[in-house]
Amino acid sequence: MEELRYLIAFIKAIALVHPLLQPETDKVTKNGRNVNFEPFIETVDVQWPAELATAVDLVAVTISYPPTRTYEEKKLTSPIKYIEPPKEEEDFSGSRQCAMCEKPVQWDQSLCCGRCKAIIYCGPICQKNHWREAHKSMCGLYKAMMEREEELAMKIFKFNFVVDNSCQWLESMGLHKKGMWRRLCGCYAHYPFGLLPTKSIGAFELWGGLGDKDYPSDKPLANHIIGNRNPVFLSGWSEYYNIRSLPMSSPVAAILSHPLTVYHILTTLVINSKNRLIKGKEVVVHYLGPAVELDWLQAFDEISHLLNGLGNVQIFMIGPEVPSNLLGPVSGLGSRLRVNLVRGLYQEQYMNLPAPHMVIALNCGLESYGSWSGALGVIKSINVPVFFTERSEVLCTSAKQVLRTSGLHLTHPVGPNPFRSPLREQIHSTNLPSFSNGFIFGVNT
Ligand SMILES: [Zn+2]
Ligand SMILES: [Zn+2]
Ligand SMILES: [Zn+2]
Repeated sequence: MEELRYLIAFIKAIALVHPLLQPETDKVTKNGRNVNFEPFIETVDVQWPAELATAVDLVAVTISYPPTRTYEEKKLTSPIKYIEPPKEEEDFSGSRQCAMCEKPVQWDQSLCCGRCKAIIYCGPICQKNHWREAHKSMCGLYKAMMEREEELAMKIFKFNFVVDNSCQWLESMGLHKKGMWRRLCGCYAHYPFGLLPTKSIGAFELWGGLGDKDYPSDKPLANHIIGNRNPVFLSGWSEYYNIRSLPMSSPVAAILSHPLTVYHILTTLVINSKNRLIKGKEVVVHYLGPAVELDWLQAFDEISHLLNGLGNVQIFMIGPEVPSNLLGPVSGLGSRLRVNLVRGLYQEQYMNLPAPHMVIALNCGLESYGSWSGALGVIKSINVPVFFTERSEVLCTSAKQVLRTSGLHLTHPVGPNPFRSPLREQIHSTNLPSFSNGFIFGVNT
C-alpha cells in the first residue's frame, strides 16, 4: 500500500510540476525546444484516490539537477535535538505566540522548530508535545514552504519589506496614520471599512503625502498612443513600476496589490475576459468580501488607466462589511471602470446583479468565515471562473479543503501571485512566508 502511495504521488507530482519547467524560447535544437532545469521546490496537491486517502494531500517535490550535474543534498537535522533561536540578523521586536499553548512569547525568547524553522514555541516542552501531537506529519511540508522564502521575497523593492510591527514600519516610511496607509495598521481599526475620515480625496492626501513621483498619477498612461490602444499586459511589479515611472523605493505596491491582482486576473488569467477587453467590450466582475479595500477605491482607478483606452470593467463589490451609507455606484473613478457597492451576503444578493464574467475574492479566508459555504454554493451553480487569493500556502491548503467540501476542485493550481504585496507579514506562531494576496488559485477556470 505504501509503495502504491509513493508511486501515485510520483506520477501526480511529475504531471503537476511538468508545466512549471521553463521552455527556453530562443533555443531550438535538433531534438526540439530546450527546457530549463533549474532546481526548485514546489508543493503539489496529490489528491489521493479515495482508497488511498490520507489527511495530507500536499507533497513537497524538489526538482534537482540532472544526474550529470552535481547536487549537494542539504543535511536534514533531527527535529527534536536541534531547537534553535531564530536568526539574529532579523531584528524583530514584537511579541509572538507559542503554537502549542498560545502563550505570548517575546521574539528574543522564542524557539522555533530546528528542522522547518517555521513554527514558534515558548520552550522545549511545548515543542516536544506539539511534535508528537501535530507537527510531525507537517514538518516536512513546512520546511519546503520555508525554503521558498528567498524565491518569494520581493527583492526588487528598495525599502524594508519585512514588517513585524506595522505601526513602526509605517512610521519608518513616514506614512503612519496618513491617507490610505491607515488601513495597514490597527490605529484606525475602530472606523468601519470604507468610512475612514478624509478631508479631500486628492491623490496627494490619499497616498499619505508621498512625493508626487512616488505614486501613480491619476491620469492616462504617459506612453498612451492614439491609434495603438490596447490594454497593457503586465508580468509583474517591475514592469508596472517601469510603465508608471515609479522608483522601486516607492511602497505603493502594498496598496496597489488589490487592484493590480484584479487587473492581472482580468487580462492574463481569464482568456475570455482578455478577449472581451481587446474587442472593446465590458467585463463584469463580482468581487466578494471587500474590507480594507473599501478605503482604497480610488487606487482601483489604476485598472481604468491600464486599460489604455480599450474595454470597460464593471466591478460589483459585495459583502457584509460594505457600509449602508455607501451603497450604489462609486463616484470619482475613471470612465473605463465602474464600481458598485452592495451590502449583504453573496448568496442573498447575486440574483439582483448582472451575470458576472468572473468572480474574485482577495485574501478570502475561506476557512475563517462560515458564510462562505452559501457563497460557494452560488459559485458552483453559476460556473464562471473564480479566483481567490490567500496570504500563505498553509491558508491555501485549508482553503482547498473548504472548496472540496463544497464540491469545487481547483482548476488553477496554487501559485505565488506576481502582484502580491511586497510586505512580508509576521503572523502569530509561524515564520511561514505571508503576504497580502500572496498566493492565487482558481476554480471553474
Ligand atoms: Zn508553549
Ligand atoms: Zn518543524
Ligand atoms: Zn498604527
